Order: sequence, then structure tokens, then C-alpha cells
Amino acid sequence: MTQKDDLTKKPVNVDDILKVDLYDVEETPHISVNFDRCIGCETKPCIDLCPAKCYDLLGGKVLFSYSGCLECGTCRIVCPQNAISWNYPRSGKGIQYRFT
Ligand code: SF4
Repeated sequence: MTQKDDLTKKPVNVDDILKVDLYDVEETPHISVNFDRCIGCETKPCIDLCPAKCYDLLGGKVLFSYSGCLECGTCRIVCPQNAISWNYPRSGKGIQYRFT
């Protein structure tokens, strides 16, 4: 077995991969959510599809925290209410991916 074969057959634990990344969280959020529009959203796909679990539900209302954001852009794409204003953080801020 080659080293490449070994890597492709080894199960991947996403949490293990992500925990080596670094964050320099910017004070100003790079994503803002118009929560008034969330009220009319029946499916709330951001809750299920954000890989960083930045969105949650409390008492039927959407909560959002940008500090663990992976900058994937999924929430901007899947929001059926166009409630999300999305930008990258300033250069050097946000997530810094590390490859192991
Ligand atoms: S950009 Fe990706 S990780 Fe960040 S809040 Fe949106 S879905 Fe979650």
C-alpha cells in the first residue's frame, strides 16, 4: 500500500481538521442578518446547512454568531429570504486555514 492509498482509505474527522485552524475575529461582523425577514421563512435552511453551526433557533427565532464562520458562503446562497448581507472579513481577519 502506498502512502496515497493509506490517506484515501483513512476516515476523515472534519472536527480534527478544523481544530488546527486559527481565527482572528474582527470586531465588526462580516455577515449581517435581517432578522425581520427570517420571521417569514418557513424552512430556515441556514440552521441545517451552515457547517460551522453559526445559526441556531431559540423560541422560533433565528440566532446568529459570526465568530466561528468558515467563510464558505453557504448561508448567503441558501437563504430564500435574501436576508443575509455577506462580505469577507478584512484582510488578515477571520479564519486562517491550516493544512495538516
Ligand atoms: S459563510 Fe458558511 S460558515 Fe459562515 S455563517 Fe455562512 S454558512 Fe456558516
